[in-house]
Amino acid sequence: MNKDRKLIVAGNWKMNKTVSESLALVEDLKVELAGVKEVDLVVCPPFTALKPVSDAITNTNLKLGAQNLHWENFGAFTGEICAAMLRDVYCTYVVLGHSERRQFFGETDETVNKRVKAALAARLRPIVCVGETLEERESGRTNKVFDRQLRGGLAGLTNEEINDCIVAYEPVWAIGTGRNATPEQAQETQAFIRSVLAQLFGEIAAKVRIQYGGSVKPANARELMSQPDIDGALVGGASLQARSFIDIVQNSI
Ligand code: PEP
Repeated sequence: MNKDRKLIVAGNWKMNKTVSESLALVEDLKVELAGVKEVDLVVCPPFTALKPVSDAITNTNLKLGAQNLHWENFGAFTGEICAAMLRDVYCTYVVLGHSERRQFFGETDETVNKRVKAALAARLRPIVCVGETLEERESGRTNKVFDRQLRGGLAGLTNEEINDCIVAYEPVWAIGTGRNATPEQAQETQAFIRSVLAQLFGEIAAKVRIQYGGSVKPANARELMSQPDIDGALVGGASLQARSFIDIVQNSI
């Protein structure tokens, strides 16, 4: 596929996989995806598996991502993990503002923004998730939601910093439901997201990679990835099995 922006496919394992399960999965990915150069490949295991997975993927084409971070650098924040700790185990990406964090853990655009800034300050690339609920879509508020999430979540970033960010469009109604946005729906929405980025950051918006996420599977990957404003996928459920993640990657090329 010929796009100016390099595709990026990331697997968000969420709260799944022990250390041994993580290592088994990553062994298969390492072997089968070894020759892939056209796509940036990222795995995001749970915190407990970051270090062993990091060791296992040294000198491979797989990169390591975390699923969240706290914006403070250290201190009395029981249960939290900071950017320096992620750098310490060679993470290069971090998923921020996932809808599950927003829905179950009180994440707001303001706290997403603090996390994005902390990630960038530590030279981690944030994968910033945005997305509308079904109710917001059906009541015609989708564009308003993106406007708010992008202006809030990316507030105060410089043009160089936005270039280091990946935006993931994840319609909340498509996450883990088996119901994906049609390629046309996703394209229309992602083109709108890029237009908001252009308002905020100017020409550099054309360089920012925007992933689609929400029930991506081997069967729908090719059509989704062939859309002009879809630059990769954030994959949840289908990233837990080596075969389906590998097929998604292969079908994206
Ligand atoms: C996700 O949670 O980032 C996701 C896209 O999940 P799924 O692929 O399972 O819909």
